[in-house]
Amino acid sequence: RMKENGKNGYLQHSEDMDHVAMEKLTIQHEMRRALENKEFVLYYQPQYDLASGQIVGMEALIRWMHPERGMIFPGDFIPAAEESGLIAPLGEWVIEEACRQNKAWQDEGLLRIPVSVNLSFRQFTEKNLTSKISGILEKTGLHPRYLELEITESMTMDVERASQDLRELTEMGLHISIDDFGTGYSSFHYLKTLPIGRLKIDRSFVRDIKQDPSDAAIVAAIISMAHKLQMQVVAEGVETKDQVHFLRSHRCDEMQGYFGSPPLSSNSAHALLMEKVNRPALPAYH
Ligand code: C2E
Ligand code: MG
Ligand code: MG
Ligand code: MG
Repeated sequence: RMKENGKNGYLQHSEDMDHVAMEKLTIQHEMRRALENKEFVLYYQPQYDLASGQIVGMEALIRWMHPERGMIFPGDFIPAAEESGLIAPLGEWVIEEACRQNKAWQDEGLLRIPVSVNLSFRQFTEKNLTSKISGILEKTGLHPRYLELEITESMTMDVERASQDLRELTEMGLHISIDDFGTGYSSFHYLKTLPIGRLKIDRSFVRDIKQDPSDAAIVAAIISMAHKLQMQVVAEGVETKDQVHFLRSHRCDEMQGYFGSPPLSSNSAHALLMEKVNRPALPAYH
């Protein structure tokens, strides 16, 4: 973890500096270097249609392949990137790399499925997000229908502003989903106002779906509400067959989680797509 930075030498000349501030500077400096050195990579986690078992999407998840510390997960550097403003170039890199990879796979004749990218709050509130994204789509040649942006409930708090941006993006042809649904400050107002295509049920509700009647009730209610609002539902963090069974019987549309596949390196994701081109990945549901 990045927190251990302080113990391996970076702070030796800085007794008089606030450790937290120093740590932040170190991470920020390291991240700039890492972006130049191309140490960031995207992993891809497949999303499965629950009825057919087919792979219907991939979520791009960033990893930092640190030369000394090995793989670092986004939870350990995205917050620092957000604070330092480095999230802007980093986030742009993520979108471009995801679009480039998706287009390359399609050009090879692999499944034509959308890639989902996580947007940070800072990125979402940037003024020129729409023009940046349309520039990336033009440059990579990816059709906008193959790009989905994942935002969180907190990003919809300013409904007026969010609504204008999201409308522009969906008019371009992109899809919007709400990530970690149920964990933020939800308002039914944004659900009815914003052009949202999919709700991703946070994995904290999915985990105990078979044991905890409250979780089961919440998940069933989210699915039913989403369908009435013409939205699709994706269950996150699905790890067991029992969870799949519950979700199928409640007509959840899609699932993502270790039961289907963990996030994969681009090579492994490529191999999976090659293998699954015409074959269902999960048994079909009758
Ligand atoms: P998220 O968007 O909700 O992504 C799902 C997280 O759950 C991923 O963690 C994934 O590896 C993990 N996961 C997937 N299936 C399972 C499962 O069955 N069980 C469990 N326990 N976990 C599962 P990861 O990759 O560490 O990413 C964490 C968060 O970091 C993401 O949550 C997302 O909010 C953020 N993130 C990832 N990539 C990016 C990025 O490129 N940009 C931004 N701004 N944020 C990102
Ligand atoms: Mg996500
Ligand atoms: Mg998230
Ligand atoms: Mg999530």
